[in-house]
Amino acid sequence: MEENSNFIKTIIKEDLESGKHDKIVTRFPPEPNGYLHIGHAKSIVINFGLADEFNGKTNLRFDDTNPLKEDQEYVDSIKEDVSWLGYEWDNLFFASDYFEEMYKRAVLLIKKGKAYIDDLNADQIREYRGTLTEPGKESPYRSRSIEENLDLFERMRKGEFGNGEKVLRAKIDMASPNVNLRDPVIYRIAHATHHNTGDKWCIYPMYAFAHPLEDAIEGVTHSLCTTEFEDQRPLYEWVVAECEMEATPQQIEFGRLNLTNTVMSKRKLKQLVDEKYVDGWDDPRLPTISGLRRKGYTPEAIREFVMAAGVSKGFSTVDEQMLEHFVREDLKLKAPRTMGVLKPLKVVITNYPEGEVEWLDAEINPENPEMGIRKIPFSREIYVEQDDFMENPPAKYFRLFPGNEVRLKHAYFIKCEEIIKDENGNVIELRCTYDPETKSGSGFTGRKVKGTLHWVDATHSLPAEFRLYEPLIRDADLNEDEGEDKSFLDYVNENSLEILEGFIEPNMKDAKAQDKFQFFRHGYFNVDPKHSTSEKHVFNRIVSLKSSFKLK
Ligand code: ATP
Ligand code: MG
Repeated sequence: MEENSNFIKTIIKEDLESGKHDKIVTRFPPEPNGYLHIGHAKSIVINFGLADEFNGKTNLRFDDTNPLKEDQEYVDSIKEDVSWLGYEWDNLFFASDYFEEMYKRAVLLIKKGKAYIDDLNADQIREYRGTLTEPGKESPYRSRSIEENLDLFERMRKGEFGNGEKVLRAKIDMASPNVNLRDPVIYRIAHATHHNTGDKWCIYPMYAFAHPLEDAIEGVTHSLCTTEFEDQRPLYEWVVAECEMEATPQQIEFGRLNLTNTVMSKRKLKQLVDEKYVDGWDDPRLPTISGLRRKGYTPEAIREFVMAAGVSKGFSTVDEQMLEHFVREDLKLKAPRTMGVLKPLKVVITNYPEGEVEWLDAEINPENPEMGIRKIPFSREIYVEQDDFMENPPAKYFRLFPGNEVRLKHAYFIKCEEIIKDENGNVIELRCTYDPETKSGSGFTGRKVKGTLHWVDATHSLPAEFRLYEPLIRDADLNEDEGEDKSFLDYVNENSLEILEGFIEPNMKDAKAQDKFQFFRHGYFNVDPKHSTSEKHVFNRIVSLKSSFKLK
């Protein structure tokens, strides 16, 4: 990981040198209430990366303390995504496995006079809390006796009260300048079935109470989280100390990662999925790990990107083009080259013998010659791209137009002789001639042409669907400046998916889901795992070939 940008590494080094810890333990603690996104990848890379580097351990811990939003589907997808990113957890834990322990620690707080049952409702609690400039007011229930609190807490657990009727609050300081310390709620009643504990519990610990206990129970040494928890650090430390936990994990905050032209919170992603703006959590337009995977991103590219974005304290919105840069870099040497025509226009080569087929040699990857060669058929009828022809071209147009000659990649020069139109005047076919002297690889130097076009043979090619993507959110910085009056749904790009029906080289017959190719002139594509079939391959464009983006 970047030496200069990683202040967390400095802290860990000091802690190991001073003997505060002999081994570090980190954790990645997702709540299973949605799929992971690229922001989570940052947390994964930091937590697993640091533990690997310092020979420590990392737990994958599901922070599953809210039964209302959590689901086994999310648990499964999170495990899959972490593994796919290339990390192995040392332990797999569920916070819900510690419910009994957490309950005991809450009882301990009550016995010490550090927690009480409050009958105020949520609105009243908010009202009593005060503001940043005014102190809060104490609840009339704050002075309940320890015996009464113990009795009520036990009855809460037994299910004697309805949702919201009572809560357990830490007794800290209603006048604290840190609002988080004004007697935060630490247990609430929720009569709901939990994905792991079923109906065993009807009271659940709140995040601010549960999280420090989870870390301490597991012996986590460095609890790395995002900066929005900075103000909660005093409460985190209060919980660990007052609950008399043996281990004292240290909370350290780093900046959230954001990308331009997207949304990143699970709540918003879930809304896009539920309201069918996209085709599931793995839609290639989403910044989810599963969406990026389906689009064709590689774990290497994602890891390199996250590391390059750095581990600063600051909140960073990173240009999505930087992510694209890393996938191009990764695929450059790995992806076989091929040709595909996305918007076909038929070309008949009138002087090519009918019924004849030649199998031409083409390098699989000129940047990686070890990948060998492929064979591509050439015959009298081929397809070129509609966009590579103009009847009345502007100056400096070097592709096909009447009378012009171009090179067909890996094949011959062809010259446009005649245009065939349908009754509406649309060009439906070109008649061309080819020059047998100009065969690729023959060393022909007789004359030069400026345009090189991709093409596929019409009789041998396979049908294929191409899915081209544009950013899902039209506003680059929506993540940063979305206010009350600015709903992200108003910024959803309705033209974010374009589907084209075209043709590919026949040697791609056995291409499997998730195989990646570079289509000449079009960019890198991935075989879509959801929609591709052996009858018709479906490709997602990962990224185009060129970008103006320069890595700093
Ligand atoms: P979201 O707001 O997107 O739902 P979250 O923070 O609620 O995310 P958790 O499941 O609680 O999601 O996150 C697990 C870990 O990943 C936490 O430690 C969290 O701080 C970290 N994390 C979440 N989003 C980001 C992000 N954008 N950048 C870096 N780390 C993140
Ligand atoms: Mg959350």
